[in-house]
Amino acid sequence: METFPTEYKQALKEKLVVIKKHLTGLDEAMRSMKNQMVKDFNNAWLYEYAMKRANETREQGLAEQRRIEWLLKPVKGDGALNIAQAKATPIPQIIEINRKTGLCPWHEDKHPSLTYYPQNNTVWCFVCNRGGDSIDVASKLWGLSFKETVLKLTT
Ligand SMILES: [Zn+2]
Repeated sequence: METFPTEYKQALKEKLVVIKKHLTGLDEAMRSMKNQMVKDFNNAWLYEYAMKRANETREQGLAEQRRIEWLLKPVKGDGALNIAQAKATPIPQIIEINRKTGLCPWHEDKHPSLTYYPQNNTVWCFVCNRGGDSIDVASKLWGLSFKETVLKLTT
């Protein structure tokens, strides 16, 4: 039994085709928008990540530059030893410390195993069980005597 007149049924079928076509178009547009959003989001995230890493690298580079410039300053002074002042030299000024770790000067260290303790400005290596203060680190690193190291640290 026919519910609707044939013409009306035909009109409904045509309308259904149009709606389906619109919906398919809309689905495609939404999929495309979503893909673009994911792409933009990923790009924004990548950009932010790249900038953050670049800035970290830049900061590390600047710190390393300051450290090397300081190390290259000629030793002056009257030869009087100021041990307290030498010990007060921050260890990160002598060796590169990142996130409180650095390369141990007492053993062949490829992965940073030296832990830095800022509260008393000392380091300790849990691999070779050695450590010390700024004078110990600097004299080992530079191959200088105690006296030479103190002079260098207080210049
Ligand atoms: Zn070590």
